[in-house]
Amino acid sequence: PPFPVRASGPVQRGFGRGGKDLGCPTANLPDESLPQLQDITTTGVYYGFAQVSPPKDQESAFSAEDAHVLPMAMSIGWNPFYKNERLTAEVHLMHEFKSDFYGYNMKVIVLGYIRPQLDYTSREALIEDIETDKQVALRCLARPEYEKFASDTYFDL
Ligand code: ADP
Ligand code: MG
Repeated sequence: PPFPVRASGPVQRGFGRGGKDLGCPTANLPDESLPQLQDITTTGVYYGFAQVSPPKDQESAFSAEDAHVLPMAMSIGWNPFYKNERLTAEVHLMHEFKSDFYGYNMKVIVLGYIRPQLDYTSREALIEDIETDKQVALRCLARPEYEKFASDTYFDL
């Protein structure tokens, strides 16, 4: 297995559909950062840690908690905008942010795989699975072996 896999870049705007309506906003890694994920060859849902850093002139709008290393669940899939020839990597951080952080730098360490991407026939089924993913991610990350990655030197501590 390729884990841990590290990737970072400024948060890119997505289609703005789905995420917030489903109670699960996902911050997109920029296209330029996707080569950093090349060792991950299976699309699906993953878990790990992530950290968002505001630019110098936005620091006052971001609380200390917002800038912590946080547990995350992440979807790696095909991007319909590029006729499914390119990947997207979307990260849900398990934290309530007071505001959006488009353009802010995000660092992620991917630690494990949860499940493949599935087709959903109902919105309810999708929402239920997202809830399960979040719980699975938190349970996985609670393993003592993963503690060291929350204070990895890759992050700004
Ligand atoms: P988009 O299609 O632009 O990615 P989303 O509905 O998925 O739209 O919302 C993603 C944006 O929401 C992120 O880029 C970020 O600025 C903001 N956001 C707020 N809270 C979170 C969170 N807990 N996890 C991820 N993104 C969040
Ligand atoms: Mg999104």
